[in-house]
Amino acid sequence: MSVYEPGELIYEGKAKKLFSIPGQPDLLFQEYKDSLTAFNAQKKGSFEEKGALNREICALLFDELERNSVLTHRIQEIPPNAIVTRKLKMVKLELVVRNILAGSTAKKFGFEEGTPLDAPLVEFYYKDDALADPFVSDEQAIMLKTARDRAELDALRAFGLKINAVLVPYLLKAGIRLIDFKVEVGYDKDGVLRLADEISPDTCRLWDAKTGEKMDKDRFRRDLGGIAEAYRGVRDRLRQAGGK
Ligand code: ADP
Ligand code: UDP
Repeated sequence: MSVYEPGELIYEGKAKKLFSIPGQPDLLFQEYKDSLTAFNAQKKGSFEEKGALNREICALLFDELERNSVLTHRIQEIPPNAIVTRKLKMVKLELVVRNILAGSTAKKFGFEEGTPLDAPLVEFYYKDDALADPFVSDEQAIMLKTARDRAELDALRAFGLKINAVLVPYLLKAGIRLIDFKVEVGYDKDGVLRLADEISPDTCRLWDAKTGEKMDKDRFRRDLGGIAEAYRGVRDRLRQAGGK
């Protein structure tokens, strides 16, 4: 039974609504929406239960991350489609980690999609919708004051790599290859770095380990159809693979 009730709507994003919680100034009530967007919100869609699926998939991934000592913003899951989190001071960067080249970086350097990398690659993107989240170098990230110095960027990189090292084998047990993903991070009131936002088929590329079939938002981006079935497939496989 939840003791948390949403108060005022303080922000509505592309995938979630954020509410304050009366009497809890350090917490947020985050509600996953059924809508989804791509190409910086130029393409819009939705499907029933999408919010609930992403909430549950993210919960299962957070469970495994927390078992492996990765700190998250999570306080309490509120099924079907909400979560209570700590309110963090967000880092204004998106961290992208890649195991296999696909999407923007493959295109930029002329690689065929599906090219494996010798080692995981971490990239930073400046979180700014008006600028369409541009890639930034370390120097640019510091110039933009999204990070204090190189040491902080190195800590963010290490955090992204740790998340990757936990999720790759976990997803593989469920028959899913983690191609790449995006995470957002922030600092709690004690200055501790925590994983924020969500990890879901909206924010990852997930390929069936046997067939290579896409089980993520690329089905929507590329009009491949079967998006609800794909997200449900990820949820069902993670459930079956078991939490432990
Ligand atoms: P967007 O803002 O990109 O449209 P969402 O619809 O998912 O994305 O909105 C969620 C917003 O909440 C994002 O801006 C994200 O950075 C922010 N956020 C996620 N977790 C936290 C947190 N724990 N504390 C503060 N802000 C958060
Ligand atoms: N991604 C995301 N939000 C963004 C940009 C990227 O969740 O604003 C995820 C995307 O789903 C993929 C990974 O980050 O899993 C790398 O995306 P990429 O840079 O290849 O961009 P895209 O091909 O989506 O333009």
